[in-house]
Amino acid sequence: MAKANKAYVLFGAPGSGKGTQAEQLVKHYGFVHVATGDLFRENLKQNTPLGQLAKGYMEKGALVPDDVTARMLKERLQRGDEAPAYLLDGFPRTLPQAQMLEEILRELGIRLAAVIFIQTSDDLIVRRLGGRLICKACQTPYHKTNRPPKKEGICDRCGGELYQRADDNPDTVRARLATFHSQTAPLIEYYKKAGLLHPVNGEISAEQTLQEISEILKKY
Ligand code: ADP
Ligand code: ZN
Repeated sequence: MAKANKAYVLFGAPGSGKGTQAEQLVKHYGFVHVATGDLFRENLKQNTPLGQLAKGYMEKGALVPDDVTARMLKERLQRGDEAPAYLLDGFPRTLPQAQMLEEILRELGIRLAAVIFIQTSDDLIVRRLGGRLICKACQTPYHKTNRPPKKEGICDRCGGELYQRADDNPDTVRARLATFHSQTAPLIEYYKKAGLLHPVNGEISAEQTLQEISEILKKY
C-alpha cells in the first residue's frame, strides 16, 4: 500500500463520540487514527518535557498552545504511514491550528478530503463524560451504562485496565465545553465556507452515526 496522501478530520465537542467512531472507522477502512489528546496523554505517561508542559493545560480543561500542538502533529504525520487515509481527531481545535494544518498537509503532500462534524448538545455530553471509561493500553472508550465492557474494569479488546480520565470530572468537563464553544466552534463556519464540512448526528446510536459517516466517506 502507498503512503497516505489523504486526511479526514473528525470534528466535534469533547465527548461527542470521536473516539468511538474513530475506532470503528479504523476497523472498517484501515485508516490511521491520529488523536492529539492521545499523543499528549502518551507524553504525560512517559513524563516527557512535552508531557510536563501539556499537563497544566489539560488539567484545567484548557488548550495546549497552538505551536506546540502543531509541531507534535507534524512530527507524527512525518512518519508517513501506509494507509488509505489519516483520520485526525482533536486537531484542529482553533482557527490558527486550521491554518497550520493546511500548511503541514501541503508540505507533506496530503489532501484534506472532508471534515466530519459530529453534532451534539452540551447536556448529552455532561451525561456521557461522567460515565466514560478508557482502556489504559489501547485507548478504547467505554461507558458505565451506555457501553459497559463485558468484564467490569477490563477492556474487551485487549484485556487492559479501564480508568476514568482525570479531566472527565464535572468541573473540568464544563471547562472543556466552554473552551470548545469559544475556541473550537468558529471552525464550523470556517470549514463550511471551504466546502469541507459534513455534519452528522451524534445523538443517535453509535452505529447510526457510523452509518451517516460511511455515506460521506463513499463520496469523498
Ligand atoms: P476531548 O475528549 O476533550 O476531545 P482530547 O483527548 O481530544 O479530549 O484532548 C484532551 C486535552 O488535550 C484537551 O482538553 C487539551 O488540553 C489537549 N489537546 C488535545 N488536542 C489539542 C489541540 N489540538 N490543541 C490544543 N490542545 C489540545
Ligand atoms: Zn484495550
